[in-house]
Amino acid sequence: MKIIYSDAHKGHAGALEMRGEAFVPMAECPERMEVILLALADAGLRDVHAPKAHGLAEAARIHAPDFLTFLETAYPLWEKRHGPSRAVFARTFGMRGMAQKPQMDNIDAMLSAFTFDIFSPFVRGTWDAIRSALDVTLTAAEMVQQGTREAFALCRPPGHHASGDLAGGYCYLNNAAIAAQMFRDQGAARVAILDIDYHHGNGTQRIFYDRDDVLFISLHGRPEEEYPFLLGFGDETGAGRGEGFNLNLPMPPGTRIDTYLHALQAAAARVRAYAPDVLVLSLGVDTFDGDPVGGFCLQTPDYLRLGQVIAGLGLPTLFVMEGGYAIAPLGQNVTNVLTGYLQG
Ligand SMILES: [Zn+2]
Repeated sequence: MKIIYSDAHKGHAGALEMRGEAFVPMAECPERMEVILLALADAGLRDVHAPKAHGLAEAARIHAPDFLTFLETAYPLWEKRHGPSRAVFARTFGMRGMAQKPQMDNIDAMLSAFTFDIFSPFVRGTWDAIRSALDVTLTAAEMVQQGTREAFALCRPPGHHASGDLAGGYCYLNNAAIAAQMFRDQGAARVAILDIDYHHGNGTQRIFYDRDDVLFISLHGRPEEEYPFLLGFGDETGAGRGEGFNLNLPMPPGTRIDTYLHALQAAAARVRAYAPDVLVLSLGVDTFDGDPVGGFCLQTPDYLRLGQVIAGLGLPTLFVMEGGYAIAPLGQNVTNVLTGYLQG
């Protein structure tokens, strides 16, 4: 298993998020990568490669130019206008009926236009981390494109909540979507994205909703109870040419492995019927029992079984790291998906 990783994410640290009535350290933190690397090494998964530097051309196939400018300039513009901060997020959100075209030097208006919640704060190192996640993902994707059977893009920040011009939910660039588009641009006829993060991949869904060349499947907590609340329902099946190429499999709070595996097998059947050239696996393990932002009850050994089902698809597979915030078991949970896959 090729693992692509860079330390360049580490400056995206110290950010604060709201939990209840308090500001607390953001659950999406640099330690996540450290515990995953340690657990991978313990399991003998040590084939770690540095990413190659990429420009923004591949990201621009998915994301709007003004949005990319926003991500790059958000923190410097904020600091210039308001001073240093560990909680740079919008104070207002673009409301319906407003023009929603911000001046590109007005950071408050830009935050309002280009974010959808308060869970994608900017700090000084955020842009470097965003760029490193892009480099890591594209380098891993290129390995798979060139014939490597499977590769793991071990990166943060995650991406699946980000759409073409909106950041949110710890996500800025949609790494998995950018990789899927790269596969298409490099000649893949069909790409499947399977999102097993606890939360619905609203950004990925939105990006590919009207397309039939990228199948999107998400297993997640029901939007009746769970973030992002207004998307991820079972009757969202795609639009136009994309009708039938979006599959949401929401599950209730407290879901355990038997129910989860049933949904995963349904997802696998849909992937098989689609017969993609390559699979992009949005790998979140915040389905773990006790994850601070999750609501399912998967146990650490269960992740082996997830990996085995994914392996059963028999496809070239790019794993892209998404969520998972229970730090102590995080490394083993991720490792189990990969070792289950390799054994499967
Ligand atoms: Zn998540």
